[in-house]
Amino acid sequence: MKFGTKAIHAGIEPDSATGAVMTPIYQTSTYAQSAPGVHKGYEYARTGNPTRTVLENNLAALENGKFGICFSSGLAAMDAVIRLLQPGDEVLACDDLYGGSYRLLTKVHGGFGIKSRFVGMNNLAAFESAIRPETKLIWIETPTNPMLNIVDILAICTIAKKKGILTCVDNTFASPYLQNPLDLGADIVLHSATKYIGGHSDVVHGAVVTNSELYAQKLRFIQNAVGAVPGPQDCFLILRGIKTLHIRVERACQNAAKIADFLRSHSKIKQVFYPGFIDHPGHDIAASQMRHFGGMVSFNLFTDTLDYAEKLLSNTKLFTLAESLGGVESLIGHPATMTHASIPREERLKVGLTDSLIRLSVGIEDVSDLIDDLNVAIDHLS
Ligand SMILES: *Cc1c(COP(=O)(O)O)cnc(C)c1O
Repeated sequence: MKFGTKAIHAGIEPDSATGAVMTPIYQTSTYAQSAPGVHKGYEYARTGNPTRTVLENNLAALENGKFGICFSSGLAAMDAVIRLLQPGDEVLACDDLYGGSYRLLTKVHGGFGIKSRFVGMNNLAAFESAIRPETKLIWIETPTNPMLNIVDILAICTIAKKKGILTCVDNTFASPYLQNPLDLGADIVLHSATKYIGGHSDVVHGAVVTNSELYAQKLRFIQNAVGAVPGPQDCFLILRGIKTLHIRVERACQNAAKIADFLRSHSKIKQVFYPGFIDHPGHDIAASQMRHFGGMVSFNLFTDTLDYAEKLLSNTKLFTLAESLGGVESLIGHPATMTHASIPREERLKVGLTDSLIRLSVGIEDVSDLIDDLNVAIDHLS
């Protein structure tokens, strides 16, 4: 089955009780038992819910995996993966990471004895020599947020496999339509389904997918034991969003390519970060591991001062100034004060995340309107 067909059909059957074509929202916390312990597969809704089960099976199919496990947010999903480790173990993560992921690793799990170190993953030899005996999990994000660097998933996972280290790829920025890390050797793939998978900026949700029965069992145990589970309404909304995932992402990618070209040719823009440019350092790897180059574009203005960036951010009319990404509507954001404010300034500057860096999540509107909006906002800067 190809992707668009899977998005609409994988794991989804008309409801056996009523024939309802759309998966019903099983709004219940508990299930009747005919005798103690005798039930139809569901006992209590933290442990399992039929709406959630359908979504978990659908997501597993989209990532070419066997097991999908859903959580109440992307960070709850990440928290569950980190709980596979023990105190004394270490996470080796890429150095250009979603701010909330950095915070969870350093400020929460750091306090329970799980250390994290952050390395560039473009130099494979340097990456390999950064691995220590206590390194038990390698955390990859690609394309990275917000610098849009590309990590070679196959190469990093091959090194990790040789050393018996677990790998997890945060695939939020690409979406399962563009990139399938399990096919490239990753053990676990993670999504903030809040973004492209849900796609309508109306629900917070997270998921992991794996082919490993062992890790699936452990993650399912954590899902139930810790309890960061999504409600059935949220699962329904995610299922509904997935039905158009391939169409939405396709259009967002087309729009982003045109916007990246426009920005690059504008005299008031100093630098544009977009993996679709043939001179982007990760372009060839992106072309080999992604279907298209994604809907995200970052750029620097002609001056690094904060005031011009702030002016631009409040000048756009169609691009809404807001956190998050991956919705049908275009958003504009300022990583240094918004998504990445929890990362110390010196750490940010090391990866090129300056005070004037602006990030676009390109939506599926008509691209000429989006370009006009940016053009007018940039013209008004001086
Ligand atoms: C948003 C995001 C997360 C966190 O997901 P939530 O659903 O907000 O908890 C993790 N990784 C990336 C790349 C994200 O963009």
